[in-house]
Amino acid sequence: MRPEKAEEYLRRIRLAGDEAGRVVRLMEVCGTHTHAIGRGGLRAVLPATVELVSGPGCPVCVTSQRDVERMLLLARIPGVTVCTFGDMLRVPGVSSSLEKERARGADVRVVYSPLDALETARREPGQQVAFLAVGFETTAPGVAAVMLRARDERVGNFSAIVTHKLILPAMEAVLDGGSNIDGFLTPGHVSVIIGADAYEELAGRRGIPCVATGFEPIDVLEGIAMLLELIGQGRGGSFIQYRRAVKRKGNEKAWGAMMEAFRITDGEWRGIGVIPGSGLKLRDELSELDAEKRFNLPELEPVELRGCRCGEVLKGMIHPPECPLFGKVCTPASPVGPCMVSSEGSCAARYRYG
Ligand code: SF4
Repeated sequence: MRPEKAEEYLRRIRLAGDEAGRVVRLMEVCGTHTHAIGRGGLRAVLPATVELVSGPGCPVCVTSQRDVERMLLLARIPGVTVCTFGDMLRVPGVSSSLEKERARGADVRVVYSPLDALETARREPGQQVAFLAVGFETTAPGVAAVMLRARDERVGNFSAIVTHKLILPAMEAVLDGGSNIDGFLTPGHVSVIIGADAYEELAGRRGIPCVATGFEPIDVLEGIAMLLELIGQGRGGSFIQYRRAVKRKGNEKAWGAMMEAFRITDGEWRGIGVIPGSGLKLRDELSELDAEKRFNLPELEPVELRGCRCGEVLKGMIHPPECPLFGKVCTPASPVGPCMVSSEGSCAARYRYG
């Protein structure tokens, strides 16, 4: 971190915090910001007038328990290879996890991109290969491109469970949930895709500032300074700190690929429930690539992990240490909930960095 820049942003933060004369609650929507805040030790240098609250932007954490259980059912089907990002491996199910299923003999493999999963299917035509597609507008375009390619190349042994989510409806749900957020640090990588203009409607209607922010601790400090000054001026709207990557209009090509492969539908979020218009599912034209249909995965009853308060953490209602299991029963080595699994999870970041 450049010390002179950090000092300048901190001076602006202190000044704007003093002028506010109250504690200002800012939500870092994205798990990567949560991690950067911990890594940079930012909580220790911020004045008491600034409260940072983690939001629902960790892809693994917000995947509903019902979807996790469906993924476990899929892994148990003989002849199916499940390809997943590494973070999903240790997410606890009610009685199992993908890691445990793998130890019992299931074919669960970690991949670094959806393309790796498609290549596995091409390499092993005798095996059914199913990809677990989780994440936001950041990962969804890449998955969309792979699904379109699988359709065009008629890769008959490839499919996916698609649980992608859209960030804007979740921010709206957070505001509706009464968490008293004064401003949002919005995710830089999602903003690269959707563009800063995408936040304008919500920000204007709610009178709340949103600042698309990069992922270095120095970016986060500048984003916080901008938010506090905007709040002081009473300005809602969408602004850009991460100017080296985020544009007003976003990446129309990536969005186009998403809309060609997926349709917007209601999404089920851990701890928040169903948010209208917040999920992505495969379009009917690609339904033969839908693993839930191909393997007749059943509709399950909603379930929650006993004792885990991830839902409240994700809505900004409590900080991780307020969960009675934090650091005692629930640790990164023995996670009870998903927020302690992923490096982007609020509980894991708070455990690691304090
Ligand atoms: S500390 Fe563990 S049990 Fe508690 S909310 Fe976080 S992940 Fe869930």
